[in-house]
Amino acid sequence: MNHNGVHLEGMILDMDGVIWRGKRLLPGVQAFLHAMHVHAMAYIFATNNSTSTAEEIAAHALQFGLHFDPKQILTSSLAAVSYMQSILSEGSRVFVLGESGLITAIEEAGYEIHSNAEDVEAVIVGLDRKVNWDKLSEACYAIAKGAKFIGTNMDPSLPTERGIAPGNGAILGAIEHVTGVAPVVLGKPEPYLYLKGAQMLGLEPESILVVGDRLETDIEGGKRARMATALLLTGISSLADVDQYSSKPDFVYDSMDKLKAALWH
Ligand SMILES: [Mg+2]
Repeated sequence: MNHNGVHLEGMILDMDGVIWRGKRLLPGVQAFLHAMHVHAMAYIFATNNSTSTAEEIAAHALQFGLHFDPKQILTSSLAAVSYMQSILSEGSRVFVLGESGLITAIEEAGYEIHSNAEDVEAVIVGLDRKVNWDKLSEACYAIAKGAKFIGTNMDPSLPTERGIAPGNGAILGAIEHVTGVAPVVLGKPEPYLYLKGAQMLGLEPESILVVGDRLETDIEGGKRARMATALLLTGISSLADVDQYSSKPDFVYDSMDKLKAALWH
């Protein structure tokens, strides 16, 4: 399929701000997903969320009546584990700051999670809403002793009902501030998550369209992964943000319906 000169074979979609926003399914999503099936478009979902497992996200989608295959969901925790597998052998001892999405992924890959810093080969950090001084200290001790330092995603903030709370970037920043060691980060806007997505789709990055609602993560990451990018104005970034931002998305649509019409008119 050709879309304004881009030969498209697959898509990698963000979810929050693209498929749903908070507890609300966004308009046009059902019809868009249906069109992807009708036109045999390969697709997966990619998220910086490190706290949920793919199964938990699929269960969340089901609340909106959407049937997502967990195998089509790539979280920053799964990307982090994929990266770990390229540098650490199975059974390696690791220290983890994170929630079920990260802990489950690491355990399923056969790594041994230890609760103190002694003799661990890597420290893996995802958003941990129960983080405390003891856990941060263990992470710092391990990194100072030479453990690899891996972060799922660098999101500085986490919007909640009450305002802006610290995101995983804030936790990574605290550890980096103490140790002087910068983490290897896998989530958007780093290209790793998207390149892993391309591998899952079995497609070249150039034939993939990234669909997201945030310029600094979705669009920036898609560009770094050499993919085509479409910004949907149904989430975080606005048209005014696009004007301000130096690196522009290839396409901008104000709804899923508009994207669908552009692809399959
Ligand atoms: Mg989003």
